[in-house]
Amino acid sequence: AVVAQAPCIELNDGNKIPVLALGTGRGTAKETETLEDVRNAVLWAIEAGYRHIDTAAVYDDEEQVGQGIADAIAKGIVTREQIFVTTKLWNDKHARDQVVPALRESLKRLGLDYVDLYLIHFPVSTKSDGSPDNIDYLDTWKGMEEARQHGLARSIGVSNFNLSQIDRLVANCQVRPAVNEFEVNPTLTQEPLVSHCHSLGIAVMSYSPFGFLVSRKRDDAPPPKYDDPTLGAMAAKYGKTPGQIVLRYLIERGLIPIPKSTNKKRLAENINIFDFQLTEDEVATISRFNKNTRVISIDAWKDYPNYPF
Ligand code: NDP
Repeated sequence: AVVAQAPCIELNDGNKIPVLALGTGRGTAKETETLEDVRNAVLWAIEAGYRHIDTAAVYDDEEQVGQGIADAIAKGIVTREQIFVTTKLWNDKHARDQVVPALRESLKRLGLDYVDLYLIHFPVSTKSDGSPDNIDYLDTWKGMEEARQHGLARSIGVSNFNLSQIDRLVANCQVRPAVNEFEVNPTLTQEPLVSHCHSLGIAVMSYSPFGFLVSRKRDDAPPPKYDDPTLGAMAAKYGKTPGQIVLRYLIERGLIPIPKSTNKKRLAENINIFDFQLTEDEVATISRFNKNTRVISIDAWKDYPNYPF
């Protein structure tokens, strides 16, 4: 059977990254899904053609992500070199000398000897009890550069950095971040941050790609919902689903969406977006849903140093 494949783009360090990743951060799904579901999802995703998996130390599922990858390798579907694995440093390990040991712990859980991409998860630093700390992310970045020098991470980047944080980092680093991962979807289109990152040669991974299309259990959720007529008309035109239209919209904008699913059918659906294109007008139409409304804002950190939003 022919499986769908995402093309790769080149990062600013010369490494190649597949433009669609499986999300494994579970959010509220933690209440209904088991870690075994993550392992299965990773295997099914690789079977369906995914070659990029996004995880993080704080997701508590690196072990299962690693098992799913090992299952796929054992079945002869892929080799390690054909899979792109992204993981992230949590906020309580921001001191420069904590970075390499934290990555080694992630690698042990993943059962890997390198990751393809290691990200600072947030610019905010905390103590291990979650209370605010005030470690400069420029110091954390020095630890990230060391992780790369050791060959533990092929590429390094950041997540949830805002425009001025990106500028300050770019002005004060040896190795420029290859990626900034942040929320982009129809109600949070982020044109200024996206174009700024792209102009600096920084690729953008877009999390929560469906925005409020899927249930977020919020009464104030702005459109578009899954049954939105505008998306529905585009879906009918191309013989696709509203979810696929939104993922393709992000691809047209040069982004790397990270849809999460543990459902075998939806997993396959989400990568089946590389056989059609939206017009410029359709991209502009979807961008007009923008409300600058975040799915993820972490209000508890509002008063912490370096809060990005
Ligand atoms: P998503 O936009 O990926 O939405 C996930 C939800 O959509 C799940 O409920 C899933 O259910 C459902 N879904 C998936 N595919 C479809 C489909 N085709 N049709 C209808 N519903 C669908 O949001 P997330 O917030 O999970 O973000 C995705 C990933 O981004 C995370 O898993 C994580 O890896 C990353 N992330 C990173 C953050 C960071 O700070 N760097 C923050 C937040 C997320 P089901 O599984 O049942 O299909």
